[in-house]
Amino acid sequence: MTQVTFPTVVAKFGGTSVADFDAMDRSADVVLSDTDTRLVVLSASAGVTNLLVALAEGLQDAERYIKLDAVRAIQYAILDRLSDPHTIREEIDRLLDNLTTLAEAAALAPSPALTDELVSHGELMSSLLFVEVLRDRGAEAQWFDARKIMRTSNRFGRAEPDINALAELAQQQLAPRLAQSLIITQGFIGSDVNGRTTTLGRGGSDYTAALLGEALSACRVDIWTDVPGIYTTDPRIVPAAKRIDRIAFEEAAEMATFGAKVLHPATLLPAVRSDIPVFVGSSKDARAGGTLVCKKTEHPPLFRALALRRKQTLLTLHSLNMLHSRGFLAEVFSILARNNISVDLITTSEVNVALTLDTTGSTSTGDTLLTSALLTELSSLCRVEVEEDLALIALIGNSLCAASGVGKEVFGVLDPFNIRMICYGASSHNLCFLVPGSEAEQVVQKLHRNLFE
Ligand code: ASP
Ligand code: MG
Repeated sequence: MTQVTFPTVVAKFGGTSVADFDAMDRSADVVLSDTDTRLVVLSASAGVTNLLVALAEGLQDAERYIKLDAVRAIQYAILDRLSDPHTIREEIDRLLDNLTTLAEAAALAPSPALTDELVSHGELMSSLLFVEVLRDRGAEAQWFDARKIMRTSNRFGRAEPDINALAELAQQQLAPRLAQSLIITQGFIGSDVNGRTTTLGRGGSDYTAALLGEALSACRVDIWTDVPGIYTTDPRIVPAAKRIDRIAFEEAAEMATFGAKVLHPATLLPAVRSDIPVFVGSSKDARAGGTLVCKKTEHPPLFRALALRRKQTLLTLHSLNMLHSRGFLAEVFSILARNNISVDLITTSEVNVALTLDTTGSTSTGDTLLTSALLTELSSLCRVEVEEDLALIALIGNSLCAASGVGKEVFGVLDPFNIRMICYGASSHNLCFLVPGSEAEQVVQKLHRNLFE
């Protein structure tokens, strides 16, 4: 088995970093400026995945042609700026023809497997084009089909990677190529044991990069996006938000899980497991620096950041029968598990449970996860109340449970707002609560002013 012996950086570029020719050109600068970068993982060009998801849902003729034209226009605009578009036009046209056929099939009978097959074309096209952008600049770059090594379950739309298979396949098929040239591959897509195309869930390219970094024992994973790092909160909500230069894995993982859009929530799992630092920066302005996510930071602050996740659904379950109270929770959870629902936050009293649903990584929002089958099953056990349009705010920090005065500082600020549920105590890295969606931004602004400015 070939082991990679030189320092390997895996660099991932998100949709905005490969949105058009100029963005690809800037991303090429970033790749070529660091000779340790051996493997490049790409998203689809911005907007393409959304168009493909719409096509996969099954559109009627007129709408379908509009979306297909829009995809073609994005890819052709890049193709036409290459010095020799002919070399790759045939390949792109073949993929666009495939798309037309798949979109027709989806209009007749959409399915999760078909969706993944269709949606994978975004990454296939962006990666083919990026290879040519690099070659135009004299770089030696090879295209690699990530599906050859990213072995996953067949849970289409949200497939789970098989870490051991990936490690073995990456060492066999990818490592030897890395020694020869720069390799350009796709994020987000994989394949099951039968060779059918799968995807890791929306935004999954970050996760691919981290998994490949782990499989290849990379020394760093760079995530290039359109913001120069991780901020104390979303700067669009709070302009005074500050960039965090270094942050520990646990804190960054909490931020991603609780809605900070910078990293896909699963990204840090492989990084933590294998202790690989993750750098986050902007491909628009690589020199502006970014955030390094690593094992430890010096002087971790009590309050680190605020994350906001919208569109939360709260389920409150009241046991119908006191006799059921023994084993009530167990029964609730087995129903949820049978319905493939992952619970996010939970608070309980003896015969009541309040919980929110975990929608991270899937294309669904909380309300679409709540199928009528699930509600019927739950209703046989308990009275079910559903509240929608809540927002989850998470205060991320360190030793939050051990420090005194956290409650007073936080809830003092929140006094005028209507708080629906609080989770505090399970993790020393977060304190989170639900507020009405319409008040969320105000709450974040007020908390940021009081705790971070
Ligand atoms: N292109 C996919 C998406 O838009 C994956 C990614 O960009 O990470 O969700
Ligand atoms: Mg993305």
